[in-house]
Amino acid sequence: MRVHNFSAGPAVLPEEVLKEAQEELLSYQGIGLSVLEMSHRSAEFKEIMEDARNRTLKLMGLGDDYTTLFLQGGASLQFYMIPLNFCPEDKVVNMIDTGAWSSKAIKEIKLLNKKLHIAASSEDKNFTYIPKEWKLSENPAYLHITTNNTIRGTEWKTDPDIPDNIPLIADMSSNFLSKPLDFSKYDLIYGGAQKNIGPAGATFVIIKKSLLEKQNPGMSTMMDYNTHIKKDSAFNTPPCFAIYIIGKVLKWIEDNGGLEGMKKRNEEKADYIYNILDESDFYQGTVVPEDRSMMNIPFRLPTEELEKKFIAEAADNGMLTLKGHRSVGGCRASLYNSLPMQAAQDLAEFMQKFEKKNK
Ligand SMILES: *Cc1c(COP(=O)(O)O)cnc(C)c1O
Repeated sequence: MRVHNFSAGPAVLPEEVLKEAQEELLSYQGIGLSVLEMSHRSAEFKEIMEDARNRTLKLMGLGDDYTTLFLQGGASLQFYMIPLNFCPEDKVVNMIDTGAWSSKAIKEIKLLNKKLHIAASSEDKNFTYIPKEWKLSENPAYLHITTNNTIRGTEWKTDPDIPDNIPLIADMSSNFLSKPLDFSKYDLIYGGAQKNIGPAGATFVIIKKSLLEKQNPGMSTMMDYNTHIKKDSAFNTPPCFAIYIIGKVLKWIEDNGGLEGMKKRNEEKADYIYNILDESDFYQGTVVPEDRSMMNIPFRLPTEELEKKFIAEAADNGMLTLKGHRSVGGCRASLYNSLPMQAAQDLAEFMQKFEKKNK
């Protein structure tokens, strides 16, 4: 029996995808071996890689002025690779700080001794909102934002409007492909696949090729985006099985209405939970309403004791991983693309019953 998995990541995958992978596990397309065992130089794997890279751009509505990479090291390595490659000595990294993940990215910029400017921050209100105004520095190398804040549950609802000649870079780990977006406004988009598009092990990086003209010289081989671009994301052994599953998830997104379809489903799921937070004085949302995330919904109960009880009883009812991130406490429901509608309905129903019993 499958449970409802509200994990923030690694997270739920579509059941159809898991079943397909299961069917192909011993023999991929009748060739007598598994993708888990296959050479990354084989014709079969090359096709899997190309398919995943192309589907990504197609879903984003991007052309061949962009390219997709599936790397390793997580979104966390991108925190370092991006300033290393794209901030020259005389320029300044501009960051908008919206919580834990952007703070980690800021730490790497400091370790690299790059010039840093915090263009805006929501730290003054404990990262419970998305800044609506920012001030760029002189000579910006680029502006970096985190489009969805997995831990705090805030999400950018519009793309930041900045001059065309300043590259815009985004960590989209936890809301990538959850809704239509004008991706062409961004010069580099990256994230860990394990939140919204696949299993752990692969990091997606979508780069506008023109950004590479601004690259610093003298990059070491593995830190150089060109290394990976020139070798079609297989300079060294890529995370083959993760990429194979990502390809299937991307196809599943296409089959379910593409990004419009995802948005509609995701809004509907989030509404089930937000309606309860809005109507109840038992549950408390932690984010200003206009910035709340469709993907990660943090909430509090009247006491920590009740929160523990809520999480335990939910688990007894087949609803798992509702604990908030250890840095903020409370509860959090993550409702990524692959989470079935039924899971959100069942959680909403459980929340109402729990409130009645414990109020
Ligand atoms: C999970 C997460 C990360 C870290 O990803 P790793 O792949 O574990 O390095 C970075 N940014 C955001 C927004 C995340 O949700």
